[in-house]
Amino acid sequence: MTRNLEGIVLKKRNWRENDLEIIFLSKDWGKMRLLAIGARKFKSKLSGHLEPFNEVKIMLADGKTFDKIGQAVSLKNFLAQSVLIDWKKNWATQEAAELLNKILPEKQEEPKIYQLFKNFLSLISKNEAQEILPLFQWQAVVLAGFSPILDQCANCGGSVGSGEVNFSSSKGGLLCEKCIVKGDGQKINNQELKVLRHLVLNSGLKTAWIKLNQEKKVFLENLFAQFYSYHILK
Ligand SMILES: [Zn+2]
Repeated sequence: MTRNLEGIVLKKRNWRENDLEIIFLSKDWGKMRLLAIGARKFKSKLSGHLEPFNEVKIMLADGKTFDKIGQAVSLKNFLAQSVLIDWKKNWATQEAAELLNKILPEKQEEPKIYQLFKNFLSLISKNEAQEILPLFQWQAVVLAGFSPILDQCANCGGSVGSGEVNFSSSKGGLLCEKCIVKGDGQKINNQELKVLRHLVLNSGLKTAWIKLNQEKKVFLENLFAQFYSYHILK
């Protein structure tokens, strides 16, 4: 059986002698691992279309372990030349793709995450990578169901005060005053909490792509690195 699918290439790697393994984020089926048979042969028409961050239309045939890409047609190449030569943007797009590969289960439809990734790819070509990447990362984990707990204590479920609060990456969110005494956590200020809450509440919406000053960029980036290492990297 064959079917047509639309999606974005997240990663590609060599497979056997002539083939490519493609990690594909499809519009209707979420993340998929696919094979492009013979794509590395000199005469293949497939490989040019299956570059990372291309939006493509593919024809898929069912396979035993992997579904196979029969044909591919590029719809949009998100990475203009400016992104390819800017190592920070280049690195940020790889990080974003790697995160999706890590957090998404196979063949589960994720329309909001698909749209989020498209928005990310459009925005990164016009904006600074350090601003766009952390906004993407927090939204992606929230939409994938790994949201930080910000409305109650992540340890005991009690209420958290206003003003300066403690965030514990190992517990996955804010700590109340009682729980701070016992454990880990780092102080985050009102402004930082506000930006985090905004992202949790607006993930997947246009309003989530806010302008960040230097402190907030660094804050979101560092906190994400910690949160990620506790909750996703394992
Ligand atoms: Zn508590």
